[in-house]
Amino acid sequence: MRNDTPRVCIVGAGAAGLSLAYALSSHRINTRICDAGKAGQGALAASAGMIAPGAEIHEAGARPHPLAVAFARLALHSASLWPAWAQRLRYETGIDPEYRASGSLIPLPGDAEGANAAASLQALGVKAHRLTKAEAVRHLPGLDSEGSLFLPGDAQLSAPRLGEALITALQASAHAELHEQVRVTGIEPGAQGWRVRLADGEMIETDCVVLAAGWAAETLHPAAAGVFPVKGQALMLQAGADAGTDSWPLVRAGDVYLASKPGGRVLVGASAEPGRSDTVTDTVTADTLLERAARHVPAIASMQRLSHWAGVRPALPGMMPRAGEAAPGLFVALGAYRHGVMLAPALAEGLARAIAGEGESEHLVPFAPPHG
Ligand SMILES: Cc1cc2nc3c(=O)[nH]c(=O)nc-3n(C[C@H](O)[C@H](O)[C@H](O)COP(=O)(O)OP(=O)(O)OC[C@H]3O[C@@H](n4cnc5c(N)ncnc54)[C@H](O)[C@@H]3O)c2cc1C
Repeated sequence: MRNDTPRVCIVGAGAAGLSLAYALSSHRINTRICDAGKAGQGALAASAGMIAPGAEIHEAGARPHPLAVAFARLALHSASLWPAWAQRLRYETGIDPEYRASGSLIPLPGDAEGANAAASLQALGVKAHRLTKAEAVRHLPGLDSEGSLFLPGDAQLSAPRLGEALITALQASAHAELHEQVRVTGIEPGAQGWRVRLADGEMIETDCVVLAAGWAAETLHPAAAGVFPVKGQALMLQAGADAGTDSWPLVRAGDVYLASKPGGRVLVGASAEPGRSDTVTDTVTADTLLERAARHVPAIASMQRLSHWAGVRPALPGMMPRAGEAAPGLFVALGAYRHGVMLAPALAEGLARAIAGEGESEHLVPFAPPHG
């Protein structure tokens, strides 16, 4: 074991924990990450990999929240960090996270809705263009929609490849240690700052702890109070070889989305099942998602089903994340809900700066936990 007294212990090696450890390794801070299972196999592995601040801000407009503007700023900031993160990960590890600036297309019932939606998004700093039916079909042949919006700033990547690249980068780092199959059972004040209790009875003494245990974090410390699971099911389809799906933009239709992946694959997602933490899939949910998707893109109905899976998102009331210092030396990176990939670089860089004593990130301040 290289760092017997890690300066930082991160609980949970998912989107939040892995990316924070990656950012901390740039600060040369010795970090140990403990995961109860296999790193990257929580919600991250189930994710569609969308980095779509425009579409998220558009959909969030339907459920107003006092932090909506702060969330828009955080999401846009994080999305702006992604191209450099993806490039650096590919350069350092040889694993391409398949980042693609695909843009998002939002089908709308008519042109008037497009004008209103574009104006609201532009007011929040999101680039948004209204498209005629003919223009929309040029972006996505076969799209069945009277009006639509195109958001060129939205993007996507492969979440499984992102997990693989982050794990590979950490394994090569002199400042990070990844421990799998190590369940944390509690966190308490300790001799050095904090003590992390493991299920096998071992204890880790550390200066600083970060709670990043996804939907299961609540039992570990009161700083994670309120976190709850939201199960999501998604499917992967295979289009015909000449379908041209690889260049499709994301399609974000509110109750369903499509994210085309290399090799003619199309990901259809996702259900939102609050309170459910199992990963069982069911055909009723699959058929509902496919039927919704085919309403916008009829070609979906003739694609072959490759796989169907479920993951569990970590949510907090209001569906807003909680990130920052909850008590001296105790940090949280929680409740990213369906935004954990999109928000990963901003949460990681902001928390790493705070842990390194370089000050707070203005983007994270509104999402700080109550300091106890
Ligand atoms: C179907 C689906 C589609 C999604 N699509 C997108 C998308 O397109 N874009 C986007 O931004 N987000 C998306 N998300 C959401 C995104 O996946 C999550 O927000 C993100 O993965 C949450 O990261 P996390 O690190 O908080 O949790 P996780 O990735 O779940 O990681 C938490 C980790 O903590 C570990 N852990 C739990 N308890 C303990 C313990 N006691 N001790 C040690 N370790 C523990 C777990 O084993 C797990 O590895 C999607 C999610 C789903 C389910």
